Amino acid sequence: MANAGKELEKFAADNGINFFLVSYVDLLGVVRSKLVPSAAIGGMQKVGAGFAGYAAHFDMTAADPDMMAVPDATSVIKLPWTEGVAWVASDVCMNGTPVLQSPRHVLRNQIEKAEKKGLRMKTGVECEFFLLTNGVETEIADVKDVAIKPCYDQGALMRHFAVISELLEHMETLGWKPYQADHEDGNGQFELNWEYDDCLATADKHTFFKFMAKSVAEKHGFRATFMPKPFVNKTGNGAHCHVSVWNPAGSINLFHAKDGELGLSELAYNFLAGVLENSQALVAILNPTVNSYKRIDGQSTASGSSWAPCTVSYTGNNRTHLLRIPDEGRFELRLADGAVNPYLLQAAILASGLDGIDKKLKAPERCDWNGHLPPPPNAPALKALPSTLLEALDNLSHSESLKQSLGEEFVKSYLKIQKEQWRSYTSHLSKWELDNTLDC
Ligand code: ADP
Ligand code: MG
Ligand code: MG
Ligand code: MG
Ligand code: MG
Repeated sequence: MANAGKELEKFAADNGINFFLVSYVDLLGVVRSKLVPSAAIGGMQKVGAGFAGYAAHFDMTAADPDMMAVPDATSVIKLPWTEGVAWVASDVCMNGTPVLQSPRHVLRNQIEKAEKKGLRMKTGVECEFFLLTNGVETEIADVKDVAIKPCYDQGALMRHFAVISELLEHMETLGWKPYQADHEDGNGQFELNWEYDDCLATADKHTFFKFMAKSVAEKHGFRATFMPKPFVNKTGNGAHCHVSVWNPAGSINLFHAKDGELGLSELAYNFLAGVLENSQALVAILNPTVNSYKRIDGQSTASGSSWAPCTVSYTGNNRTHLLRIPDEGRFELRLADGAVNPYLLQAAILASGLDGIDKKLKAPERCDWNGHLPPPPNAPALKALPSTLLEALDNLSHSESLKQSLGEEFVKSYLKIQKEQWRSYTSHLSKWELDNTLDC
């Protein structure tokens, strides 16, 4: 290509871009960026922008050489809410080779494995969030939004029309094909949906969507939070992921079988069985914060349901299990939450699905009852999800299949960084401990 290595310079010239946010996501999902003037982007595209990995959440030391974030020009997005700035996802390297623990690399690795099998995963994510009063963490930014069942509430949706419509318009401008927005099941909670895409594109969009929602909310004087469970008695923020696998051209949905059970093919059931088989360890990646476990603990909320899974189980069009088949040709994984690392979400699903395909795993019995109630007599015994981050991390550390599929190096680094988080949490003295232990 004549323009190879110069795509971003051309993009700047064509789109009036003065600055690029050269960005990547670290192991704990934090987006790290440098703001690079357009005049310097050509050089950055060749060698990357330098970062000290230890200063971000990576398993590195302060003595390690710089990590170079090399922008992937195919991911570039002109910010719809700020003039002259573009965002671009990067692949991080050290000493000229990819950083194996880097989330975007971990996903690229899975995509390559899938490609070798003639498979291409397409996904759509639903990124729920709350709109809070800026500066008051615990206050919903709408004093009237107090109904016990606030889901789809027209009045509450329209009181935030300025933010929600701006986000929809931006997605339209970006060509994401948004198709709906609603008030969700928690007071102050919203969801905007756009069309599914290749899993790497979905991971980039997921990352960008969080940035965009936070930025637009802030512009309007609010704070958008994707925290898994900011209010104990309200429905938490999920990041459901809808999954299908296609032929290399992306023209035939290999999950679709007209005559298959609920319209899914044998390949889809192998994949789905792999996700279920690995899910007790997958939780460590899909529910990556201490707070995540308050969402999947099986407790009901003020609205009557948590809408989150608490057992390893699958079903048809029923929102009380881990995995739902809402329609022919795809399934929905309801496990991940708003804190999930967008790249690791896709990588973990693909790795466990490919594991199921390789092992030709059969799906267990389908559970067509309310998963939040005791199971009917004669129902199969279901595994519970881990109840703390530590338990989930232990499961991941014992999962030979995920270590093998996601890579020993990545899993080792991920566990190390996450165990430091857990240690930081347990060294914090909580109000609960004082309330329940001072008078011991
Ligand atoms: P629900 O709330 O019922 O779970 P949503 O409409 O909020 O569903 O989100 C559905 C998501 O699934 C969207 O991103 C949509 O584009 C995506 N989707 C639809 N069909 C497929 C498919 N075949 N493969 C992957 N994702 C899909
Ligand atoms: Mg310096
Ligand atoms: Mg939805
Ligand atoms: Mg939802
Ligand atoms: Mg959903």
